Amino acid sequence: MDKIKKIKGFSDVFSPRSDSYTLLEAKARDIFFRYGFEELRVPILEKTELFARSIGTETDIVQKEMFTFPDRKGRSLTLRPEATAGVARAYIENKIYSSRDISKLYTIGPMFRYERPQKGRQRQFQQINAEILGSTAPETDAELLLMLNSFLRDAGFQKLSLELNSLGCPQCRPDFLKAVSDFLSRQDEEALCPDCRRRSRSNPLRVYDCKINTCREQIKKGPVLTEYLCGDCRDHFQTVKRLLGISGVQYRINPNLVRGLDYYQRTTFEVLSEDIGAQSAVAGGGRYDGLLKDLGGPDLPGIGFACGMERLLLILGEAPNPQSDFFIAPLSQKAKEIGLLLACQLRAKGLRGDVAFEGKSLKSQLRQANKQQAAACLILGEEELTRSTVLLKDLSSGEQSEIRQEDLLTALPLSRQ
Ligand SMILES: [Zn+2]
Ligand SMILES: [Zn+2]
Repeated sequence: MDKIKKIKGFSDVFSPRSDSYTLLEAKARDIFFRYGFEELRVPILEKTELFARSIGTETDIVQKEMFTFPDRKGRSLTLRPEATAGVARAYIENKIYSSRDISKLYTIGPMFRYERPQKGRQRQFQQINAEILGSTAPETDAELLLMLNSFLRDAGFQKLSLELNSLGCPQCRPDFLKAVSDFLSRQDEEALCPDCRRRSRSNPLRVYDCKINTCREQIKKGPVLTEYLCGDCRDHFQTVKRLLGISGVQYRINPNLVRGLDYYQRTTFEVLSEDIGAQSAVAGGGRYDGLLKDLGGPDLPGIGFACGMERLLLILGEAPNPQSDFFIAPLSQKAKEIGLLLACQLRAKGLRGDVAFEGKSLKSQLRQANKQQAAACLILGEEELTRSTVLLKDLSSGEQSEIRQEDLLTALPLSRQ
């Protein structure tokens, strides 16, 4: 019979890779908790309309990258390609805003995009997201960026750089978009890809994140967004930059940083790492002050970021293999029973370890203990059973000693701190 294989772009995650995910998530939870964030778990499946309306119908994500399909009743559903839309929907639907002025929410989980799979990019990928809803204060932008910086440093990144831009607001952006439109209409049509030719009229901002080289070269010569900011947007941006400066966070202004989603306004950012040579984006996000209103909710602001965990792990490398404190090698049927009880007692004290129940030779059991990188092998032979002892073999020094079963906990060499 044919074996059933997994879908292209999806992966099975075993240890030690699964341990790397757990470790990274724990670091995120720890830092976010200290910043007053709460976890929100939202569905991975939503109505397609939610993403079309929030991310924007002209974006690459909505046009080319979503897993969209009809359910049994013909309603169009989509596996979430990003987290913010779902968080915003949940925030509105549950009226979170009525019980508190500011909500700090984070969510960790899988996202789905139909892209060409490559190293560090799968069609199902894991993201860490944090959102602050209800605050327009530029201090909030800075605080969120400081938290992100703190998380990435704690995760092990050393060579980080922050790219920053402001996308303006509904007051000042139309002037900029008109300038872009005019600029594009003066260019040779052939210099733009078919998508951008259409976007230059329908949604000119999207030309800035076209991945095609000729389009990128064209738009580099185009109008600079930050020169079109209104007074309020300029002040906001100025304060964010000043706060980052006094907090010691280095940043660079990138006027072409528009991010591939329509809902961003004002502050947008990307964090790049040079920890493995070539620059690569490890996190990104921005302010989305109009999104909640556009989704039928209250006119409240928001800002957030997302980190792709695969990208983080690609740079950080895998966590070391988990080690064991003990491996119990019983040499008789009765010894298996005693071994099982001893193991449970040690585990209750916080140690990690296994018992071999397969009745193999001592030699084979010792090999197994070494394979599991156990700190010690506890041998239970006939003589040890009659004397209520174990033969403890320290697997790093090779030393052996007979110790009483009740002294095991203190006698064990620990593998972990
Ligand atoms: Zn503005
Ligand atoms: Zn293009």
